[in-house]
Amino acid sequence: MERPAPREVHMSQAIQPAHANSRGELSAGQLLKWIDTTACLAAEKHAGVSCVTASVDDIQFEETARVGQVITIKAKVTRAFSTSMEIHLKPVTPLTEQDHVEYNLASERRKVRLRHEETFKNLMEKSSKFEDLICDEEEETVSTRGTSVQSIELVLPPHANHHGNTFGGQIMAWMETVATISASRLCRAHPLLKSVDMFKFRGPSTVGDRLVFNAIVNNTFQTCVEVGVRVEAFDCQEWSEGLGRHINSAFLIYNAVNDKEELVTFPKIKPMSKDDFRRYCGAIARKRIRLGRKYVISHKQEIPLSIHWDIRNQVSLSDDNVEAFKKLVAKSGWEITSAVEKIKIYTLEEQDILSVWVEKHVEKPAHLAYHLLSDFTKRPLWDPHYVSCEVIDWVSEDDQIYYITCPIANGDKPKDLVVLVSRRSLKDSNTYTVAVKSVILPSVPPSPQYVRSEITCAGFLIHAIDSSSCTVSYFNQISASILPYFAGNLGGWSKSIEETAGSCIRFIENATDDGSISIF
Ligand code: ADP
Repeated sequence: MERPAPREVHMSQAIQPAHANSRGELSAGQLLKWIDTTACLAAEKHAGVSCVTASVDDIQFEETARVGQVITIKAKVTRAFSTSMEIHLKPVTPLTEQDHVEYNLASERRKVRLRHEETFKNLMEKSSKFEDLICDEEEETVSTRGTSVQSIELVLPPHANHHGNTFGGQIMAWMETVATISASRLCRAHPLLKSVDMFKFRGPSTVGDRLVFNAIVNNTFQTCVEVGVRVEAFDCQEWSEGLGRHINSAFLIYNAVNDKEELVTFPKIKPMSKDDFRRYCGAIARKRIRLGRKYVISHKQEIPLSIHWDIRNQVSLSDDNVEAFKKLVAKSGWEITSAVEKIKIYTLEEQDILSVWVEKHVEKPAHLAYHLLSDFTKRPLWDPHYVSCEVIDWVSEDDQIYYITCPIANGDKPKDLVVLVSRRSLKDSNTYTVAVKSVILPSVPPSPQYVRSEITCAGFLIHAIDSSSCTVSYFNQISASILPYFAGNLGGWSKSIEETAGSCIRFIENATDDGSISIF
C-alpha cells in the first residue's frame, strides 16, 4: 500500500453487513460518514486543531460497493481559504491529476459556491412562469403528499467528537436514510443515491440534542427524483417548548431500479400547495445550478468527434447530418429549465451527454426564418458567438461547408470551427430543418492562433404556426469545447442563451418580407 503524502489521509474499510442496505450494497449514508471522517482528519492534519465540516459540495455517486469489498478513501487539502479549507475527495481511485489543476478548480468551485445563493435567488424569481406550464401538462401527474417522512434521532457520544459536536457525516447519514424512504414511497422500487446538493451546516449540534428530520419529494426529472430534507435540533428545553434550531437542509437526487435492475421513470409531480410549488421550482433551479457546476468541475479530455469530409461520400455524409439532427429532435425526455417571454429552454441529459433546445416564437413566416437562418454567412449579424463565417465548399444548393471563427471566451485563445450545414425543407408540412456538424477538411487544418472546436450535432427546426408566424427551435448536443458557452447559462449565472435567442428573434422580425421574396 502506498504511503499517503503529507496532508493526505487514507482510510480503508471492509464493508460489513451493518454498513449495507437490504441489497448488500454499501449504504450511501455510511459512505458519507467515512468520507466526512477522512476529510476531517486531513483538515486537522493541515490546521493542527480540531475541525468540523462547514459544507460539502455536490457529491456524485458513480459505482456501488458491496459487502465483502474493501473501500479506500483518500483525502487531501486542495486549498485553504482564510477560515475554511477544501478537501478534494475521491474514494477508491487514486488521485492522478496534477496538483495545480486541482488548485485552480478549487478556486472555480469556491466562486460557484459563493455565487450559489445569488444564482438560486435569481432563478427562483423567474419561476412564476412555470405555473402555466405545469397546468398545461396533459401527462399523468401525482401529488407528493404520500412521500412525507419524519424521523427523530437522539445524539449520543458515539455520534460526536471529543468536544461533543455531532459529526457532520453522521447527520448526513441520517438525512440519507430518511430521504431514501421518501423516494421509495414515490416509486415503490429501490432508490439509489446519485448525487447530493451542497450540505451547508448552519449551526452546531451537540450530544443530547434531538434531531428532527423532515423529508419530502420536491420534483422528478425522468429517471431522477429530488428529495429535500430539513433538520432541526432541539436541546431538552427547546424540545419541551417546541422551538428548534434549523441546522441543515439538503437535497438528494436518486435514481431507482426495479427488481430487474432497470431504471424506473418517475411520474411528473403536481404541486398542490404554495410550499409544494416553491420546492418544485427550487428543484428545477438546483438542477440548473448542478448542470452548470458539473461542467465547471469536470475537466475531461475531449474525444475528437468530427468526421472526415470525403467528396466521394458527400451525399451520404450530408444525409447523415440531417438524420442525426432529426434523431436529436425526436428524443424524449426534454425537461423545461427556463421560460421567459417567447423563449423556452429545455435540456436533456443522457449519461454524460447534455443537449439543449431553445424554442422561440417568431412573428414572421416560416419560410423567411428558414431562408435567413440556413445562410450561415448571416449568422455573425445576430449571434455574438460568431465573429466571421464564410463558405469554403459549396457542396450543393442545400449543403455547404463553412469556416467559422468565434470570440475569445474565458481569456482563452479564440475558437474556430469547420462545419457542414445541410438544409432541407418539407414544404407539405411547413417544416424546415438546418442540420450542423463538424467535419475535418484537410485544406483547413487547425491553426496555432485558434482552438479548433467541434459541433457534434446541432441545428434549427422551423415550424410554421400560420402564414405569418413560426416557432424556431435551436438544438445543440453539447460537446466539451462548446460547453463554456452554455455552462454558465444553464447554471443560472449568465443569460447568454436568452440574449442570443432574443437577438435571433429581432434579426428575423426586422427583416423585410420583400427582401426575402426578391432573393427567392
Ligand atoms: P425549502 O422549503 O425552501 O426547500 P427548507 O430548508 O425549509 O427549504 O426545507 C428543505 C427541504 O426539506 C424542503 O425542500 C422539503 O423537501 C423538506 N421539508 C421541509 N419541511 C418539511 C416538512 N415539514 N415535511 C416534509 N419535508 C419537509
